[in-house]
Amino acid sequence: MLLMCCPPLWAAQAPLAHFYQDHWSTRDGLPHNSINAMAQTEEGYLWFASWEGVSRYNGQAFRVFSRGEETGLPDSGIRSLVSDGQGLLVAGARGGLSRYQHQGWAPQPDAPAMINHVLRDRNDRLWLATQDDGIYVRDGELTVAHYGEEDGLPGAGVYRLLQDDSGRIWAGTAQGLVWIDEGQIHPVSSVPAVPVLALLRDNRGRVLIGSERGMYVAEPATESSGKQPEVRTLYPELAGESISSLLQDDAGDLWLGTIDRGLIRISRFGMERMGLAEGLPDQRVVSLLQDAEHSIWVGTNGGLMRLRDAPFSSYTEQDGLVGDYVRTVLAHSDGSLWVGTSNGLGHIREQQIGTLPLTMPGGLAPSVLSLAEGNTGELWVGTYTHGLLRLMNGDMTARYEREQGLAANEVRAILPASDGRLWVGTSEGLSLFEQGRFRTFTQQDGLPGSFVMNLFEASNGDIWVGTGVGAAIVRQGRIIPVYLNSQDNAEYAFGFYQDPEDDRYVWLATDRGLLRYRYADGSLASVGKKHGLPIEKMFQPVVDHLGGMWLTTNRGVIRISLAQAHQVADGTRSKIDFELFGEGDGMVSSQANGGSGPAATLANDGSVWIATARGVARTQPRRLVEFSDNELPVVLESLEVNGKVVDFQESLSLAPGSNRLLLHFAGLGFVTPERIQYRTLLQGFDQDWVERGRQHLAEYTNLPPGDYVFRVTAAYPYDDWSEQEASLTLTIAPFVWQRPLFWVGVGSLALLGLWLLMRLRVRLLKSRAVELQRQVAEKTDELRRQALAFERQAREDKLTGLPNRRAFDEALFDALARARRSGQPLSLAIVDIDHFKRVNDTWSHAVGDEAIKLIADILQQQLRVTDTPARWGGEEFTLLLPDTDAADAFTLCERVRLAIAECDCRHIAPGLSLTVSMGLVQADLFAEEKLLSQADKALYQAKNQGRNQVVVFQHKSIKA
Ligand code: GH3
Ligand code: MG
Ligand code: MG
Repeated sequence: MLLMCCPPLWAAQAPLAHFYQDHWSTRDGLPHNSINAMAQTEEGYLWFASWEGVSRYNGQAFRVFSRGEETGLPDSGIRSLVSDGQGLLVAGARGGLSRYQHQGWAPQPDAPAMINHVLRDRNDRLWLATQDDGIYVRDGELTVAHYGEEDGLPGAGVYRLLQDDSGRIWAGTAQGLVWIDEGQIHPVSSVPAVPVLALLRDNRGRVLIGSERGMYVAEPATESSGKQPEVRTLYPELAGESISSLLQDDAGDLWLGTIDRGLIRISRFGMERMGLAEGLPDQRVVSLLQDAEHSIWVGTNGGLMRLRDAPFSSYTEQDGLVGDYVRTVLAHSDGSLWVGTSNGLGHIREQQIGTLPLTMPGGLAPSVLSLAEGNTGELWVGTYTHGLLRLMNGDMTARYEREQGLAANEVRAILPASDGRLWVGTSEGLSLFEQGRFRTFTQQDGLPGSFVMNLFEASNGDIWVGTGVGAAIVRQGRIIPVYLNSQDNAEYAFGFYQDPEDDRYVWLATDRGLLRYRYADGSLASVGKKHGLPIEKMFQPVVDHLGGMWLTTNRGVIRISLAQAHQVADGTRSKIDFELFGEGDGMVSSQANGGSGPAATLANDGSVWIATARGVARTQPRRLVEFSDNELPVVLESLEVNGKVVDFQESLSLAPGSNRLLLHFAGLGFVTPERIQYRTLLQGFDQDWVERGRQHLAEYTNLPPGDYVFRVTAAYPYDDWSEQEASLTLTIAPFVWQRPLFWVGVGSLALLGLWLLMRLRVRLLKSRAVELQRQVAEKTDELRRQALAFERQAREDKLTGLPNRRAFDEALFDALARARRSGQPLSLAIVDIDHFKRVNDTWSHAVGDEAIKLIADILQQQLRVTDTPARWGGEEFTLLLPDTDAADAFTLCERVRLAIAECDCRHIAPGLSLTVSMGLVQADLFAEEKLLSQADKALYQAKNQGRNQVVVFQHKSIKA
């Protein structure tokens, strides 16, 4: 049956022609189109060396580093890139050498000539292959050896170096191959004296040698071979090729770049070539690299190309498929695939594509619209114009047409039901084949439409019929229409799906998205454009073993999650995640066909097959996961703080006020970088991871001071978040007032201040009180003293200090009372200065005052303690003499008179002399009111009798 044999298709690798190609050139940001060398560093960046600098690629853009201060390189021409586990060694023109690590450059001393290649040997010494000055060996920055022509090097130009497992160094020179061991150069005579540009240690430990005249191999040294390695020709058919670069990929396949004849791959597919005609940018291949995602990068003289296994592979006429226009594909229970094309029936079994020859009347192969596997091992084939075919073991055993009762020759759907009956959907109605006869149902029988596109049997035995005007259920001979136009006016029911694990629902692919029919109440719910799906007309739902639902459309294949679709249908989710695969993903055409079926199918191995306008497309969902199973590294590329770019390492301290951060990051995945999703977590700010979608930057504004850790991880859609993450520890210093202790301090200070204030106030109050008390006391005292003074003043004569008349009156009252009580005599005298007027007139009033004071002094001196002198007024005094009778009083007064008269008054005024006259009376104790007048009478008498004398008043009663 399988007449045509083709190469195996889906082993680990696809044929070279099936690889998906991507291209980059100066138009995409490369500084130069000649890619001299390539490398991938540990953090995940890809690096491309050119004559105009080295470019770092993050999947989004190239960052170019050239000569100058940053790199320390003397020239931008880069010839060699070596990622050696300690960053990247970059070397090239003018002997420039610099090491890139952790976003920084460490320039090394220049070599004397252009460096073509660098090797770090097992002892960490650097071997520098130069253009015309042999090999330099460095230990650190110190040159420890040099190998030149004088040492046996066949030429001064050295292109490539390699250390093999036994430790010897191989050097490809401009004139052949040598190996160096223990300082000795050993030429390899079996390799011609032509440029040797490529050296590679393969996965068997052999050294592969690419020369201008073909390939050679040095087997690893064995005990029998001794020290001398045996070098022999490899692939004699390549003897005419000039090999410029070598790569062995992780599948073990060998890739060869040639100087002028493109790319060669040697694998189970044989020796395949790729040149300009196959999409290579230039025939001259300069460098080769396989990256961590298994993509093959080809550096040519005319730009960069990447080859990768795409998510989809397509099988077309080119691969041996009988026709390109595929309308239906069926996974058979035997593990094979049937492919219905407009040009007959194809078959794919165990990696082989075949054709089942079917000849219709007229000698042409039938145009196949539909397929089905029967219950007894037969295959049913529905055709466009030739009715229904029944095949058994590759032979057509029956053909049914309109003449046999089929509704039409255009057979779009075939359903062998579990009850043994066969349902056939045609362009003009539904036919039921039973006991060798057809019965037809059309619109007249209750079908919503006669154009039947798909048939499906639900687990309960319902036959679902998809027509151009809605769907219908055929149940126990009854036709139940299921109108779809309530759902965004859907009409076409293209395909059905029921979850074998959950028979409550049937999913319908329509021209207005995906609909879910619920058996419980016959309700419909839609999942479509309004939930984010990019295309609304969908043909066939296929659910893979990972829970992904694939929906074929005219514009590619959509993958959604069945679980999410349920959530949307339930109303618990508003948007649905999806992926859209098309021509960028390995489909030769993104136009999937529909309208007959099955238009897509799930094969036994879990792969999904899709009928398209250019062959059948296949994807293996499990491999898609593996595809992105590589850890997706993510790097932090730049940091802006308050609008300014800031250099950073793993941690960073920022000045107070640094509250605006903008961080750019990149997931270093190169397969579909535009699909990479990011999530970030700013510990110290975010509660949980923040999903950023495809946005590769995070911005924070208004960050308070504190300690933060910024973390970012990346993932391809449907993949778990990469465990590899980029992180940056940040400390934003606070302003003084932003420190918590500051406020504690301020608080404490405020409290302390308050306390002090209170204390101060209390003290103040206390001292005020004390002061007040003191003042009060003082004032009281003063008042008392004042009062006393007043009192004294009130009773004292100012000029003389003697008691005044008021004091005298009181003293007289007391003395009289006392005299009356005691019965003792009391005498009173009035003293008047003689001719005092003259004193005033002669000298002055002041002298007069002094004279009065003098008299007062004498009175006080002469009188006894018990006597009371007082100033009576003017120049008159009174003397109160208690316990003294008239006689004693007279004696006393006479002594006073004499003392005055004899007093020397010259110290007051020259020529002054004073005398006084006195009237004296002994008190009549019962008629004291007359006392003063009696004394005054006596004084008057004394005046009249010549002054300067004492006259005693004579009482009549005493007299009597
Ligand atoms: P006599 O008593 O001897 O008859 O003569 P006299 O000059 O003292 O007479 P008179 O009683 O008329 O005058 C009293 C004078 O004393 C009148 C007055 O100018 C004077 N005089 C009274 N009091 C004071 C005083 O306090 N100071 C001075 N300098 N003169 C006084
Ligand atoms: Mg007088
Ligand atoms: Mg007088």
